[in-house]
Amino acid sequence: MGLTPRSSEAARGRSARRAASRLSIYLSVVIALGAGITVAIAVATDWSELASSWALGPVVFLVVAAVVGELRPVRFVSSTGELRMLTTSAPFVLALIPVAGVGVALAAQLVASAIDDIRSRRSVVKALFNSAQYALSVGAGALVFTSLSGVPMLGSGVAIDAPRIAALLAGGVVMIAVNWVLVAIVVSLSSGMPLSPILRGDIRVFLVTNLVLLSVGGIAADVAADGVWPLALLAPPVIAAHIFASTAARHAWEATHDGLTGLGNRTQLHHELDRALGAGAGVGLVLIDLDHFKDFNDTLGHPVGDVILRQVGERLVDAAPEGATVHRLGGDEFAVVVPGGLDAAHDAAMALIGSFEQPMGIEKLELLVRASAGVAAAPDHGERGDTLMKNADIALYHAKVERDRISTFSPEFDINTLERLQLLADLRSAVHAKELTVVYQPQVDLVAGEIVALEALVRWTHSDRGQVLPDEFIPLAENSGLIFPLTELVLDQALADLRVWRDAGHDIRMSVNLSARHLSDLGLPQVVAEIMRRHATPAGALVLEVTETGIFSDPARADLVLRALRGNGVEIAIDDYGTGNASLSYLRRLKIDELKVDRSFVSNIGSEDHDRIIVRSTIELALALDLRVVAEGVEDADTAQALQELGGVIAQGYHLGAPVPAEQVVSRLEGASHGSARLTRGQG
Ligand code: C2E
Ligand code: CA
Ligand code: CA
Repeated sequence: MGLTPRSSEAARGRSARRAASRLSIYLSVVIALGAGITVAIAVATDWSELASSWALGPVVFLVVAAVVGELRPVRFVSSTGELRMLTTSAPFVLALIPVAGVGVALAAQLVASAIDDIRSRRSVVKALFNSAQYALSVGAGALVFTSLSGVPMLGSGVAIDAPRIAALLAGGVVMIAVNWVLVAIVVSLSSGMPLSPILRGDIRVFLVTNLVLLSVGGIAADVAADGVWPLALLAPPVIAAHIFASTAARHAWEATHDGLTGLGNRTQLHHELDRALGAGAGVGLVLIDLDHFKDFNDTLGHPVGDVILRQVGERLVDAAPEGATVHRLGGDEFAVVVPGGLDAAHDAAMALIGSFEQPMGIEKLELLVRASAGVAAAPDHGERGDTLMKNADIALYHAKVERDRISTFSPEFDINTLERLQLLADLRSAVHAKELTVVYQPQVDLVAGEIVALEALVRWTHSDRGQVLPDEFIPLAENSGLIFPLTELVLDQALADLRVWRDAGHDIRMSVNLSARHLSDLGLPQVVAEIMRRHATPAGALVLEVTETGIFSDPARADLVLRALRGNGVEIAIDDYGTGNASLSYLRRLKIDELKVDRSFVSNIGSEDHDRIIVRSTIELALALDLRVVAEGVEDADTAQALQELGGVIAQGYHLGAPVPAEQVVSRLEGASHGSARLTRGQG
């Protein structure tokens, strides 16, 4: 690529270094100031004098409460969906200021914070910063209280009275505000996010919680003069508030997380994308979709499907680079937000997809899960979260269609793909609304001149585009999995219509097309059997058409599926025969019933010697193997004549009748049974 991206990358590197040095300057300044204040307060406090004026019980109570409050923070879920902690030491530290002086208050806070830092194994710098920012905020709070109330800052042992509570609360507000701002600046400097959204981010939770904490602090200071017991009465409401807050946090967590895998959900992904984009650096988005996950669910059951999804989540988390977040969007779709630009996103996608190379051990089974990924990155493919989502989705779709593992968004496949995505969305609603229809094309026994079967062909009339051809929407349905409900729709309609015609005395078969994907769907035979039961379809009356490519994409499974279908009385036809590479003897071993010779061979049979010889020998061999032979694409009388001479061949094509809607089938069935194979051409 040209000069611009590289120089902007260099600029990004420079600005990252600048941010890092700004952060360390800031940390040093805060730590130095905090240390200074701590030393000043410690030196100025007359500890021996103080101790004698203390009401020991209440002071010990408040110190213990401060430590417990620091170690048992209230959990809440931030606006970005992360689980955050809010310590509840503030009210007790605040109450200690008038009761025992700023020296004791600060000491209690520093001890509590140090215990927490050690327990959480925080780095020395972090621990020093925590202590320093507490020194600054407690110092500022005490200063405000003293100047408003006249109570000495270093401790008088006097209990606070009602008029002074306002001053104490003002001190508390300043204490908490200083703490909030000092910490927000660190978050801003280390994440690169501007300060104001961080400060505004959780302002509501922050205000409500601190209002409660300050009130508690005021009451604690007021009642401390009366001894430990009135103070102890404060415990139940504080504990209750703690429990309510935790419950609320759990609910908030559930709203932004997926219950099955514990990963963030779609809502959370949008927050995360906005947050990452707001930080201004490059952001990558990798969408991941498992291949044929439906098959696992259908064949192994949903509980196993759930175990697989959980393992997939774990693998993705393990494979995701530092700083990335993994989300489950629902079903078998996952999304990973990756810090950095396009290259980082692509590397991450490789690692994420690579994590599926080892089979998953599930209940003694070794399952190989495969997945595709679509990659889009900011700023290359958009600067907004929804644009990135759309483009990563297009890339994923591209990966699926092209059978690539990983596809990175490129503007070239945008317009084309968007159109197809739109068509796919329309097809999805058409399938769910059962707006597809079925037309029937007759298959005629040339010797008897009778219609012996009908082929069901699906039709879709799009509200804007009019008729969309199956050749256009069947591939879409196949790649999206919509082919399963679509086929059920066609089967159900075709067998319902067949029921009517058979009841009227027409002893005909119904042929329905399957797609390659059906042959690896072990659940198919049961679905078909159920639909046949619904319409009381007799054995031998339903023919399912499959292609050679369908069989070869997974021969072992196809064999299982075909056997089960035949076991249920379904006949199997090989469609478009001659366009693949299967030998007749191989197909024969699969136990099929019918061969449909492709129209590319049939249409010239009347005129070209070469084709006639090939087609003739094929047909003769098939007939000798006891297969039924249907010649497709019979468009004129000469072809029909040539086929008739071969004997025993069934013909299908415009010459014998185009596909027509169900209402027109009866008249044809009746016309044909009155002795004429020459059916009029209808609409397709
Ligand atoms: P196919 O199974 O080979 O179906 C025969 C196609 O040839 C039909 O096109 C039919 O209208 C057309 N045709 C019939 N007679 C003649 C003729 O004399 N000359 C020529 N040139 N063509 C003729 P259609 O309905 O557009 O279907 C196209 C393909 O779409 C089908 O090919 C089949 O593969 C697929 N398809 C159609 N309906 C379904 C369905 O319900 N499920 C699945 N999975 N695939 C379907
Ligand atoms: Ca067919
Ligand atoms: Ca065909």
